[in-house]
Amino acid sequence: MAGKQKRKKKRAHFKTKADEVGELRQDLVTGKWVVVATGRARRPDDFLAERSTPKRFVKVDNKCPFCRLDEFPQLPDVLRLPDDPKEWLVHIFPNKYPAFSAEEEFRTWNLGPYRAMESVGWHEVLATRWHDQVDALLTVREMSLQVEALVLRYRQLRQKPSVNHIQIIKNHGQEAGGSLEHPHHQIFTVPVLPSDVHDLLQGAERYTQANGQEPFGVMLEYEREDGARMVEENEYFTAWCPYASRRPFEVWIMPRRQEPYFENIGPEERELLAEIMRNVFRRIYVGLNDPPYNYYIHSAPCDETGFACDRSQFSHFRWHIEILPRMNVWGGFELGTGLEITTALPEESAEYLRRQKIDEIC
Ligand SMILES: [Zn+2]
Repeated sequence: MAGKQKRKKKRAHFKTKADEVGELRQDLVTGKWVVVATGRARRPDDFLAERSTPKRFVKVDNKCPFCRLDEFPQLPDVLRLPDDPKEWLVHIFPNKYPAFSAEEEFRTWNLGPYRAMESVGWHEVLATRWHDQVDALLTVREMSLQVEALVLRYRQLRQKPSVNHIQIIKNHGQEAGGSLEHPHHQIFTVPVLPSDVHDLLQGAERYTQANGQEPFGVMLEYEREDGARMVEENEYFTAWCPYASRRPFEVWIMPRRQEPYFENIGPEERELLAEIMRNVFRRIYVGLNDPPYNYYIHSAPCDETGFACDRSQFSHFRWHIEILPRMNVWGGFELGTGLEITTALPEESAEYLRRQKIDEIC
């Protein structure tokens, strides 16, 4: 209890300091810094005022290629759920314009001092059946079906020899790179370990070696006790605005069980993951008038193919979801330094999201 009071006091102190001079915060795992530019800080309501009321989505849009599969045929489905020709609600199929070639084997070579390899990988789309199945408006069952489809396909793709890492992403809204309004995820596989995932794995290992505890558990324990950045939680999962948030209203969803691999979640966990995801997206939708956002799943790599990386490093990593509303864009400073400037205090973002009423939206 004394510790708790001490922490609260410390935070209040930081807040006062931040009001005067702003603050640099460091991510526990990657060691990356972010700038909390409180000099330009805006209250959460200011972000809402910039956006018009949420768009109304139609169930079927006749100009949408994913609604009109008869007129705009896609490549054959690899998976449908429920697996029923009439009742299906989500399907996965290969992207018509893939970023990679779907090959099991690949060549690598050098050019003088440079390294290269064939750009192999699977690039698939998980689309909802209906145009209005946006995250915030889904039922928990529909969200759960999406998670189940992603897990099933993930388990199939990870078997392929050229798949080192699988990245699941979703872009919602044009400003977030959503080229089509129809709700869809993209699944990418790559034959290398992406640098951001590499940083997370190495950071988790470094922290564990130095402190004798894995960092994600430490972070969750602190956040749950402190409460200031918490958004929502249930029996298995916690959602919160990270201490070193890179964007206003950034939210992470993480299992409280130490588990490096997303694809290992079971049916009971899946239901509660679907519930917390749906609720967090509702908070963002209601509180910020359906803003554009990106979200992605960080999971440990499938194997160490093509990269000098020891699989034992993965055991201190914990899979999680990062949701990044697009409330501002990167400028030259961010591109030049990798230091992100956020104009909202994560504590205020979390408090704002917590108090949204999400039970009555249709
Ligand atoms: Zn559509």
